[in-house]
Amino acid sequence: MNPAVPYLDLAAQLRPIRAEIDAAVARTLDRCSFCLGPDVAQFEADFARFCGAAHVVGLNSGTSALHLAMRLLNIGPGDEVITTPYTFAATSWGISYVGAKPVYVDIDEATFNLDPRLVERAITPRTKAILPVHLYGHPCDLEPLLAIGRQHRLPVVEDAAQAHGAQYRGQSVGTFGIMSCFSFYPAKNLGACGEGGALVTHQPELAARAKSLREHGSTQRYHYDEVGYNYRMEGLQGAVLGVKLKYLPTWLEGRRRVALRYQELLADTPLRLPGEADYARSAWHLYVVRHPQRDALKRHLEAHQVGCGLHYPVPLHLQKCYASLGHRAGDFPVAEQAARECLCLPIFPELTDEQIQRVASVIKDFFRG
Ligand SMILES: *Cc1c(COP(=O)(O)O)cnc(C)c1O
Repeated sequence: MNPAVPYLDLAAQLRPIRAEIDAAVARTLDRCSFCLGPDVAQFEADFARFCGAAHVVGLNSGTSALHLAMRLLNIGPGDEVITTPYTFAATSWGISYVGAKPVYVDIDEATFNLDPRLVERAITPRTKAILPVHLYGHPCDLEPLLAIGRQHRLPVVEDAAQAHGAQYRGQSVGTFGIMSCFSFYPAKNLGACGEGGALVTHQPELAARAKSLREHGSTQRYHYDEVGYNYRMEGLQGAVLGVKLKYLPTWLEGRRRVALRYQELLADTPLRLPGEADYARSAWHLYVVRHPQRDALKRHLEAHQVGCGLHYPVPLHLQKCYASLGHRAGDFPVAEQAARECLCLPIFPELTDEQIQRVASVIKDFFRG
């Protein structure tokens, strides 16, 4: 019998820690600390230590973190932010929410991340920030981006939503830019039992203003310094994340084990496999292979009950919502080719060696024809 291999198995992650989660949830229910509260404060402190950052502001989503980062930099209509077209759409949402314009730059085909060599020529007098993503958990090449930022006085904001625990030259991502944005959506490397996100920064003034903005723009109840949002992290999510954070290092090791095993088993196939740049320790959020016959391979895997995913089939510059930017096919050829060729294989810490071997053997069958 050949059992199905799921693309993601959140139940397998929850099962062994269920009693601990239940106890943490029960404590929060007993305390009725539902919005922010001590569990969120504790998680903020723990996640700050995990990243090596001074301040963590717990929010209700990664999208909110991206929005707040743009607000905190006072970016608005008429401004431009340089970013990647090959990412989850929310990377651009924060830019659009404040009325600014995403200015896309093509990606580096080895890492799928913003290509630093193309950033400088996209800078205009309206440019206000650079927003790279650590896509699939692989750090972007931060050093040249930060150098361009310093030279042109442009802040770098990291979208680290897929990269909890990834390192650039031995230092955690999310600690390099002026701010960074994390998501705790359930499928991320560190996921809540619901929605969650965080803004991470070294600067106390930015953290303080973010804490005000997440709470309607008030530091004193019923007094509003600026128009704010309800972007608070829920107490229950803080409690769940506090439990799960303790397991994150082990889970990251599990993801690495899966990636290395695929590397061995798929080495002699025609697939282009993902790697790690010399500066990078990937958090292996997704394991993304490339092949020109991607769609046929996807159908073959699905026909054999092997889950797989497309991240992302249409780059942002070709999305309907950004038609007004006036881009056309061919503008960012590296991103467009990645969108045609990339396929994500199952990767999660609980994936068994039998499951990994099954994925590899179904792939090999495809190429044997
Ligand atoms: C998940 C994700 C986000 C958005 O996070 P949410 O918590 O779902 O709002 C932003 N950027 C990237 C790259 C993501 O993967």
